[in-house]
Amino acid sequence: MSVEIDKSKCVGCGGCKSICPGGLIRMDDNGKAYIKYPRDCWGCASCIKECPARAISLYLGADIGGKGSRMRAEISGDIINWIITKPGGETEEIKINRKESNKY
Ligand code: SF4
Ligand code: SF4
Repeated sequence: MSVEIDKSKCVGCGGCKSICPGGLIRMDDNGKAYIKYPRDCWGCASCIKECPARAISLYLGADIGGKGSRMRAEISGDIINWIITKPGGETEEIKINRKESNKY
């Protein structure tokens, strides 16, 4: 499992590097983020939620049944909209209210 960082969208804020609990993200000489240790990423998605440029997506590999889908987040207030793009291009959206994330 790993994230992908689109350097063309990255604005170099460093937020992902700061928040990654494993210290897996670095900044390159051009001030763009990249994941240095992709195999150590456990997919917590903290960096995805932190990125103001929406430059990071989570690669959903076969190990978790994702078959190569990619997941990104759009955040508006308390609502996180997880957008999953499947290999064929179709998308699926899952909206989560952060205030209700611990409700059962
Ligand atoms: S998903 Fe979590 S562990 Fe992986 S790079 Fe992002 S913050 Fe680090
Ligand atoms: S949080 Fe997003 S914009 Fe900021 S450094 Fe990371 S990838 Fe770039």
